[in-house]
Amino acid sequence: MGKRDYYEVLGVSKNATAEEIKKAYRKKALKYHPDKNPNDATAEDKFKEAAEAYEVLSNPDKKARYDQFGHSGLGNDFGRGGFGGSMSMEDIFSQFGDIFGSAFSGFSGFGGSGRSSRRVNRGSNLRIKVKLTLEDILNGVEKKVKVSKYVECKTCRGSGAKGGSSFKTCSTCNGMGQVTRVTSTFLGKMQTTSACPACGGEGKVITDKCTSCYGNGIVKDEEVISINIPAGVAEGMQLSLSGKGNAAARGGVPGDLIVLVEEKKHENLVREGNNLIFEHYVSFPEAVMGTTVDVPTLEGKARIKIEPGTQSGKVLRLKGKGLPSINSYGRGDLLVSINVWTPKSVSKEEKNILANLAKSPNFAPKPQSSDKSFFEKMREHFN
Ligand SMILES: [Zn+2]
Ligand SMILES: [Zn+2]
Repeated sequence: MGKRDYYEVLGVSKNATAEEIKKAYRKKALKYHPDKNPNDATAEDKFKEAAEAYEVLSNPDKKARYDQFGHSGLGNDFGRGGFGGSMSMEDIFSQFGDIFGSAFSGFSGFGGSGRSSRRVNRGSNLRIKVKLTLEDILNGVEKKVKVSKYVECKTCRGSGAKGGSSFKTCSTCNGMGQVTRVTSTFLGKMQTTSACPACGGEGKVITDKCTSCYGNGIVKDEEVISINIPAGVAEGMQLSLSGKGNAAARGGVPGDLIVLVEEKKHENLVREGNNLIFEHYVSFPEAVMGTTVDVPTLEGKARIKIEPGTQSGKVLRLKGKGLPSINSYGRGDLLVSINVWTPKSVSKEEKNILANLAKSPNFAPKPQSSDKSFFEKMREHFN
């Protein structure tokens, strides 16, 4: 990415005086100031470019090196502690803040709103957890949760004023919510605008406070909130209910209710993505002769057939018996892993029978006919 000539960036000639450079920079900075160009990436780039040019051309030593060697004359310096061509907005404001801080209402943060005269209060977000069973997650569920939170004061209807109308216009700011002062900066006299300290930017003051909420407009209370949980959610997901958080002081915008999903352990089934896993043990004779078993699903039992000669570790797939996907159609599967139960102790008589069976060539392990490795098979099952 080739850098533009710094003189060109600021629109000044090589013979420009320090005063002319300063003026030119101020003009560019104000033109591309983020307050004037909200959410405009091009303007932001231009703003940064101008700051970089000014940083160099306002410094006699850097300017001399730039004049002689161009951009490469600054390489080392920038690699070290400078802004290396991409000065952050924070850097620019901390270094040159007095140039535009005075012409605007102070930089209120990126994407910051509320540059209108009156400030709007915002309630804080509330966070709660809901514990869900896999059955809840299968179908989606409505949960009613009792939440302790700030709600609008009923006595003053959230205004904070006695009788709901004991207000007067703030005399400090004449109801504007902001105050302006003139300051001298190195670029001349400029206006600074900030939130009115007397009314906190609200433009009005309460003459007689509501006694229920002490003028705050909100009181702590309990509220039962109904939350619709969609099917297919998973541990750690967050749902955000707009406006269901804490009410704001004196009639502002309420915060959000953030719901964190927690999964309860199922007594039989383990979740793996949208699939469910169940581990079923058969006895050795059952594995040899085959059997039918009932396995648990999230919707009652399912009967499955275990073929004679089933090996331990075989996985049977019950299509569509898993969980739904939250983002798309379809459901996962229920994977039943078949394991052969090996008894830990046997009687003397059983031992004799086993010793006899062990002599039969039928009981000698044979290599699997399948050439797929165990891990490849597992991967297939879980995909
Ligand atoms: Zn009140
Ligand atoms: Zn005021």
